[in-house]
Amino acid sequence: MSDVDEVDETHDPARRSFVESANDPDTEFPIQNLPLGIFSTSRDPVPRIGVAIGDQIFDLKRARSLELLPSSLPSFVFEQTTLNALFGQGRSTLRRLRRCVADLLDRETSADITKRRAADLFAPIDQCTMYRPTDVGNYTDFYAGIYHARAAGALLTPENPLPQNYKWIPIAYHGRASSVQVGRGAIKRPLGQRPPSEPGRAPEFGPCERLDFELEMGFYHSGGNGIGHPIPIGEAGREILGFSLLNDWSARDIQRWEMFPLGPFLSKSFATFVSPWVVTSDALIPFRVAAMERPDGDPRPLGYLLDEADQAAGGIDVDLEVYLSTEQMRSGAAPAVRILTSNARYLYWTPAQMIAHHTVNGCNLEAGDLIGTGTISGPSPQELSSMLELTAAGAKPVGLPNCERRSFLQDGDEITFKGRCSRGGFASVGFGSCTGRISGAAPIVTKEAV
Ligand code: MN
Repeated sequence: MSDVDEVDETHDPARRSFVESANDPDTEFPIQNLPLGIFSTSRDPVPRIGVAIGDQIFDLKRARSLELLPSSLPSFVFEQTTLNALFGQGRSTLRRLRRCVADLLDRETSADITKRRAADLFAPIDQCTMYRPTDVGNYTDFYAGIYHARAAGALLTPENPLPQNYKWIPIAYHGRASSVQVGRGAIKRPLGQRPPSEPGRAPEFGPCERLDFELEMGFYHSGGNGIGHPIPIGEAGREILGFSLLNDWSARDIQRWEMFPLGPFLSKSFATFVSPWVVTSDALIPFRVAAMERPDGDPRPLGYLLDEADQAAGGIDVDLEVYLSTEQMRSGAAPAVRILTSNARYLYWTPAQMIAHHTVNGCNLEAGDLIGTGTISGPSPQELSSMLELTAAGAKPVGLPNCERRSFLQDGDEITFKGRCSRGGFASVGFGSCTGRISGAAPIVTKEAV
């Protein structure tokens, strides 16, 4: 945290927008939020940067062309089809942009032209196509949720549930960037090798039988540290630009067979979903909390991971929810059912510690890189944030209101993540949603079959 991470006029709960839907107390996108995303409309199919406000998207490319944005903000970033260039400008630019957009959308301070040209500048969110926010060059997935590490470890590696290094190192693996998608679509059940039914036999091959989700948050850093330049822990939080929801789809059977000794491969690389909106770190300032308290007896982090300000306010308080809708539920017009809740404060390592650790060896981060926190489970049975944990690896299926049961996900199942921050004295801000519906595995077409 730096001294500029303070509540300012952009967080004032009394502010109202002339976009009326943004003043609804239930909206996820009040004027105090202003998340960034990439969208297009049927009238203008070129992807461009927008800001969510109520049920509308404010078009920053148009705003720039109408000279509504200050000339001190670099023009070219608003001509891009991703957020990479804007993110490369760093946190101070995002903060200037936030102040300016808040003033443009504020009922009191808005310029007349914004209202007069509203038909050009706004598009209804539900009529827009959303895209992956950044061109993801690199994707890293951490394992910082300690309740998940314990619960999943007890099921996958009972002899060693919490690895010896867990309380010393923010554990991570390099994920697959090419299959990161915006969470709004279909997810195809992967094919792969499943563990042998008994020791000594050959593995089975076919569609994954233990398809799962992992409830995580993703975050974006401005990058630019350059090879050989670690980011010190005291600065590591400063350039984290924003957060989104992240679903690290997981094929548990494939994972169990393939993961030793180098970690997950095909069990994760088939798809990772992110929510289309990036809620900026500036919007989240009122919702920072202390890092998770380490119980007595846990080691003190090594110096390069320890910063007083980060310990005091490097955590983040986001209520998270997972909804499931099955094909049968939808055919009966039944609403999706909430199967679990959690909160981002259950991370053993802060995002700043993840950045400091990620770069301590000199690894360079780049603007647009995506970092996942790891599955965020909580301490209670209702806060286990994957089907693996929630059903004890399938042993205790979840009962649904229509009497269906689920251990792992079936074709037609749709999983939706939601996230929201609330605190007395501040406007509540939401993250939108991250949704995926499972479709059946495509058969492999071999030459012989053609
Ligand atoms: Mn994960």
